[in-house]
Amino acid sequence: MRLNRLLPGLSLMGALMITLPSEAARLQSWQFSPQENQLTFTTDDSVQPTAQLLSNPTRLVIDMPGTTLEEAQNQVIAGSAIKEVRAIRLDNETARLVVEYEPGYTVNPSQVQVRGESSRQWIVRLPEATRLASTGDVDKAASESTELASNTVRNRPVQGARTRIQGIVATVDGFFIRTAGESAQLEVDRFSENGQNYITLEIDQAAISLGLTAARLPVERYSIDSWQVEQTSTQPARARITLVLGEGSPDWNVTANEGGIAILPKDVAISSIPDTGNPAGTTEAYASSLATANRQAEPADPNALPAVPNGRFTVVLDPGHGGRDPGAVGIGGLQEKQVVNDVTPQVAAILRSQGVNVVLTRDSDYELDLAPRVQIAERANATIFVSIHANAISMSRPDVNGLETFYASAAGQRLANTVHASVLAEMGMRDRRVRSARFYVIRNTSMPAILVETGFVTGAEDAPNLADPVWRERISVAIARGILLHLQQL
Ligand code: ZN
Repeated sequence: MRLNRLLPGLSLMGALMITLPSEAARLQSWQFSPQENQLTFTTDDSVQPTAQLLSNPTRLVIDMPGTTLEEAQNQVIAGSAIKEVRAIRLDNETARLVVEYEPGYTVNPSQVQVRGESSRQWIVRLPEATRLASTGDVDKAASESTELASNTVRNRPVQGARTRIQGIVATVDGFFIRTAGESAQLEVDRFSENGQNYITLEIDQAAISLGLTAARLPVERYSIDSWQVEQTSTQPARARITLVLGEGSPDWNVTANEGGIAILPKDVAISSIPDTGNPAGTTEAYASSLATANRQAEPADPNALPAVPNGRFTVVLDPGHGGRDPGAVGIGGLQEKQVVNDVTPQVAAILRSQGVNVVLTRDSDYELDLAPRVQIAERANATIFVSIHANAISMSRPDVNGLETFYASAAGQRLANTVHASVLAEMGMRDRRVRSARFYVIRNTSMPAILVETGFVTGAEDAPNLADPVWRERISVAIARGILLHLQQL
């Protein structure tokens, strides 16, 4: 056992002082005991650590927001499932302890116990590591699953699919499989086996949304006995949807367009698949949004956004994380940067369409320090500054969900109130309120500045939404609408 003491390097100190928030805590020491399988650490001020599991390689990371680290250190662990434990600086405001596992091992993150001896001394008890099933086995299991039982959804994280399957909903006409991206490339097969009838849809280049769960599949309509939704392959992305039909089930027509896949009885005229709605929410919410969309044949009028004088305002938008810095990582490996890198440019595009000058602190996926973000806003002489993030808490707290908006000045508070209210009204999220905070980017900018936490990547309700491109588009509109409302009042 070895005690790692983290002493500031003198030469680094001067440079770091410029960008560090002055009230930050410091990670003073940490140690890992292989015998007890526990990690302990001490800070010089109170911290609120969060634990998450990351993959490739498997790492348990403990983040300490508002805590600085002067020197990265590592401890190689021999003869266990743990390869190495290290302390790194995630960004100017966050120190991170990393427990990296040997290939082929993982731990159950919900069994990780983070216990505070005090607000400055912490003990992290690690569960026994378990062997990972190899990816090959998982693929085999998924494709060979001929045993069909009640509703099942097997989803696995997929990247780069052309079509995303987001939800399945029963309507008065039949079923709709809501998709985003390109129109589904379908192969439909019908067969009978052991007195049961099946329809299978093989969908190429398709990913099943991580938000789609068995609980969200409609049953007991039109004599559908059950659904199976499987990500049969991740590379290439391929999905299979199976309907198990009971007796007396009608003959079905299956058609696809950009809005989704319609499965309708042959005698029902094919209705158009609505272009709006949030399928990653509950089926009830989706069904009601479908109903609304069916009633108002017209799509939402984009010109209904609040009008502001052309060219009068400059808004600086700051995507919170990028490049090597994924930000928070949550359920299904969902990364904060995936959310902010998608939402921020959409907010920019909407504001620009309304005649607002927009400056982005970065416009592609790279890491950016905090000080340059503030400098960009000052140089642009921005009217307002909006930093966009996604939140995280321990993986063992999926119950924590909702929108938080932070400000650091009275002018920032007015902006925060307007944007927060707009997003809440549009998205129906839980309200974790407008709060004051000392984040570097909102404290050091001279114009009204806010930091919007668009939901929790670790939250059971928020994560599927944050992973859903349709939902991200909607929250982009809601944030832009809030910003425009604020500008309108100036
Ligand atoms: Zn963030």
